[in-house]
Amino acid sequence: MSAIEQNLQAVRERIASACGRARRDSASVQLIAVSKTFGPESVCEAVAAGQAIFGENKVQEAAAKIPQCPGHVSWHLVGHLQRNKANKAAQLFDLIHSVDSNRLLEALNAAGEELGRTVKVLLEVNVSGEASKFGLKPEEVPAALGAANRMHRVEIRGLMTMPPLTEDVEKARPYFRRLRELRDEWRSSSGYALDELSMGMSHDFEVAIEEGATWIRVGTALFGTRAKREALE
Ligand SMILES: *Cc1c(COP(=O)(O)O)cnc(C)c1O
Repeated sequence: MSAIEQNLQAVRERIASACGRARRDSASVQLIAVSKTFGPESVCEAVAAGQAIFGENKVQEAAAKIPQCPGHVSWHLVGHLQRNKANKAAQLFDLIHSVDSNRLLEALNAAGEELGRTVKVLLEVNVSGEASKFGLKPEEVPAALGAANRMHRVEIRGLMTMPPLTEDVEKARPYFRRLRELRDEWRSSSGYALDELSMGMSHDFEVAIEEGATWIRVGTALFGTRAKREALE
């Protein structure tokens, strides 16, 4: 068994036990294998082990990698997106997790018009309020939902957040919980279902699952430590 296959199995087991504790169906949590900084051979290894959804945080890196990977896998953008790359991102990715402004929504809507299809997105919410983080402030989200409502080529599927980095995963829990509570509020006020909650990474995804995550974004626990500790975006 390859290292990645072993890691995948271990992560799947961790997902299953977290779902057990939370009394959730394992099928309600989808694993995104975040392959940033790793090459197509690592993606292929994960595909051979049954993984079908991959995450990247940079448009350029993904554009180079995707053509070298099996064609049937699904790609998600999990990192910050600049408006001038909206077109490219809309072409490459099935879901964009990191929409953090109305202007980016507009750019993606225009990209969708051009491609003749709907662009699926999540709104990134800066729940902690840290200045260093991307994401809409919670109070900005209702207006973004309203704006998106008038755009025909973007579909908001839910919300994404990144809690402050901490050693103690329990410290991340309040941020995950808060995102779910905000979702419940906005769901009733906006008419959007906002079914998807993208939250949890290698070290804290169990806590995120307990708090309602439907997408977890896992890199290190599958592919190993990245060569460079790049900023989490
Ligand atoms: C890199 C990255 C991840 C994965 O982080 P790990 O700690 O390696 O699991 C998840 N989400 C985003 C936005 C990332 O940039």
